[in-house]
Amino acid sequence: MTRDHIKAHLEFFGELGVDGVRLEPEWRARPHERVRESEPAHMSAEPIEPAEQRPSEPAAAPEPSEPVRPAQLFTSPADALQALRVDIGPQCTRCKLHTLGRKQVVFGVGNPNADLMFVGEGPGADEDIQGEPFVGRAGQLLTKIIEAIGMTRDTVYIANVIKCRPPGNRNPEPDEVDTCEPFLFQQIDIIKPKVIVALGKFAAQSLLRTTEPITRIRGREYKYRDAILMPTYHPAYLLRNPASKREVWEDMKRVRAILTADE
Ligand code: URA
Repeated sequence: MTRDHIKAHLEFFGELGVDGVRLEPEWRARPHERVRESEPAHMSAEPIEPAEQRPSEPAAAPEPSEPVRPAQLFTSPADALQALRVDIGPQCTRCKLHTLGRKQVVFGVGNPNADLMFVGEGPGADEDIQGEPFVGRAGQLLTKIIEAIGMTRDTVYIANVIKCRPPGNRNPEPDEVDTCEPFLFQQIDIIKPKVIVALGKFAAQSLLRTTEPITRIRGREYKYRDAILMPTYHPAYLLRNPASKREVWEDMKRVRAILTADE
């Protein structure tokens, strides 16, 4: 790492509201960051939070009904993901996006055995060109966020609700989501992450089947399939609203605490 890298890293931590860096190992296990020991997260379909903080109409995590490819047929999650990638194909034609200018399917990237998975909305222009999620400016910020909790892009998994770029970066349309999201569900079932971070309003609302605003559901914990799902702000939103990085940092510290709780 060069001096410039270190400088950029420290500046980013400053923006996140981190007011110092400690090297002692004990710091990493500060008691206030330990996972809450009330109801086990995986027992509830409602936000896993004190009742008085729950939204009036809590979003129940859906149990999607689509057929799921049995992952046991494969010897490893890597093999199962590869089979899924082949099944989708490099030039999928299942929805209209293939006629609307997308260059390629952007499947997903990272560790097939990841404990932590990030889900975004859909590929943008850079992702469409490179064939990898979150490689543009928002992606570079996501990479910093991942590194801020001591992980790397290689140790997590990153995917999107839809796998092809909508024209002009418009929001994905319902028919496109209906066609594509079963593939995301299969990715989740193969990887079996402990925590899923839904990046931004679209991914969060889509996965949780809710219309609750992101400002309301951000930072909450939801039971989702076998994981805990936490919505947070999209990195592209953070580029426009840097002050909100502080809230994302709070969310990410909680994610880190959940991940390290049973180590
Ligand atoms: N925004 C997303 O939601 N996904 C990407 O892959 C890139 C930008």
